[in-house]
Amino acid sequence: MKTPSFFRRSELTSTLWAFRQEFLIVGVLSFLTNLLMLAPTIYMLQVFDRVLSSGSELTLVAVSLITLFLFGVMALSEWMRSRVLVRAGMQFDDQLSTRVFNASFEAYLGQSSTNPSRAFSDLIQIRQFLTGNGIFALFDAPWAPIYIAVTFFLHPWLGVLSLVFAVVQAALAWFGHRHTVAPAEDANAAVTDSTNYLQSKLRNSEVLESMGMVGNLLGRWDQKYQIALAKNASTLSLTHRVTAVSKFIRYTQQSLSLGAGALLVIDGQLSPGAMIAANVLMGRALAPIDQLVGTWRGFVTTRSAFDRLEKLLTEFPERDPALSRVAPTGEVTLRGVVANALGRTTPILKGISFAVPAGTVVAVLGPSGSGKSTLARVIVGIWPDVTGDVLLDGLPISGWNRMDLGPHIGYLPQDVELFEGSIAENIARLGDVDPTKVIEAARSAGLHEMILRFPKGYDTPIGEAGGLLSGGQRQRIGLARAIYGNPALIVLDEPNANLDDAGETALLRTVAELKAKGKTVLLITHRPGAIAVADRLMILRDGEIVANGPRDAVIAALRSTTASVETPTSAVQPA
Ligand code: ATP
Repeated sequence: MKTPSFFRRSELTSTLWAFRQEFLIVGVLSFLTNLLMLAPTIYMLQVFDRVLSSGSELTLVAVSLITLFLFGVMALSEWMRSRVLVRAGMQFDDQLSTRVFNASFEAYLGQSSTNPSRAFSDLIQIRQFLTGNGIFALFDAPWAPIYIAVTFFLHPWLGVLSLVFAVVQAALAWFGHRHTVAPAEDANAAVTDSTNYLQSKLRNSEVLESMGMVGNLLGRWDQKYQIALAKNASTLSLTHRVTAVSKFIRYTQQSLSLGAGALLVIDGQLSPGAMIAANVLMGRALAPIDQLVGTWRGFVTTRSAFDRLEKLLTEFPERDPALSRVAPTGEVTLRGVVANALGRTTPILKGISFAVPAGTVVAVLGPSGSGKSTLARVIVGIWPDVTGDVLLDGLPISGWNRMDLGPHIGYLPQDVELFEGSIAENIARLGDVDPTKVIEAARSAGLHEMILRFPKGYDTPIGEAGGLLSGGQRQRIGLARAIYGNPALIVLDEPNANLDDAGETALLRTVAELKAKGKTVLLITHRPGAIAVADRLMILRDGEIVANGPRDAVIAALRSTTASVETPTSAVQPA
């Protein structure tokens, strides 16, 4: 039977729900702790009203020992509930961290409406709240009415007084909530905005410095920063005002309750012991409410963190792990492929169809902005918004488990992004380094001798984004990474853009070797030299294929016509 959507839990809620037993234990321990918090009050009553009046030292010792024991139990149960929560928090994190990692990764790739950069801080926020003071405040809050009931029991007037203070305190908490939630979120967003702005620009620090743009950047960033500061200051000032009023009420309540008790003692309606006990009890009654006010901000932040994370996980559900398949041979087929992007009214690729048999080298040409890089991303299955069929060995590439597919794909993007680590680790795609395979890939990419000239050879750390290497060196390492492990399909997006003649010769030799090994290679290029190694040529213009076929036929067709390249001839297979 299908669960009605109303009762269906989101992934995040189900993960939390799995910890219901732990929360139940914490609830029981909180109950015990709070119950035992009445012990000092009862002790006080006994000392004032029984021990002092009877003068019995034995009673004092007995009462003190019992109270001491109860304190011990209380401390133990408090410690245990923290322990249970900390453990639950670790498990919660453990269960979700891989999921959150994968979902935020896909969100980066997938033009998501959710900002994945906060996903991990959101997860930490939820864990810390659920295992910290926040959750204790929620568990302790129901005890406020019980303490108030006990003060009623001591004297109705004292009960009324504590009720009044509790209502005032709760009203203040509610006011705080109503007036600080939206501004607090607004202020957080403004801070994130200014930080992101600065971080994204600092990546281009060389451009900024060389052209004296730092002053202009400072001005633009400062505008955002000042807005963030102002919003933060006004939210903080309101929060501090609420906290100050709350403190004032608490101090007033402490003294007034003692005064009211004294009045009742003078009237003979209350014993001095009960007066002191009531005073302590009223303080206890307000503590959970006070605690709630204090943790309200945390609660609000956690709630938004929860919503954001839930949205991210819903948008990027877990992929079916059962979809692994046999190793592909590298046959690529596209049928009616349309690639869209956010913020564009027309598609980037407009209904592209072609088939590339395994073991073929295809050179993809076309003017800037014609959609070549987009086609590369579509073929390796990382373009988020695609309609039509993108098939690898006749099966949709989107159906593959990416971890399984990865080793069969080699991809060298235009912007070669290298990672923190050694050259060997980068070539080995950050996995376990297999020296034979790494050297084989480096040799194929014509890189081996060059690497050996580095002081630490393959172990040379290249720093984030390969900052220590030249553009051409980065590109060659990227190429070695793409062909590492002999993948079946290799997509190279302008691999020769930064290469000198020697580099280009090495590249063409690499492509010829790949072809000899039966690999499928898509080579996006602007340079005519690369065409020599291609079996087929494909020419793109404005998101459409204008020529596609065996290399020589396409070249002949292009030569035979004085018209522009967009006229496909009979020798060339129409797109
Ligand atoms: P070049 O030879 O200059 O690298 P290209 O043929 O590889 O160009 P693409 O990078 O595929 O061209 O871009 C094709 C078009 O799609 C361009 O007009 C570009 O502005 C647009 N485009 C590319 N990526 C995105 C994106 N993520 N969002 C929106 N538009 C995009």
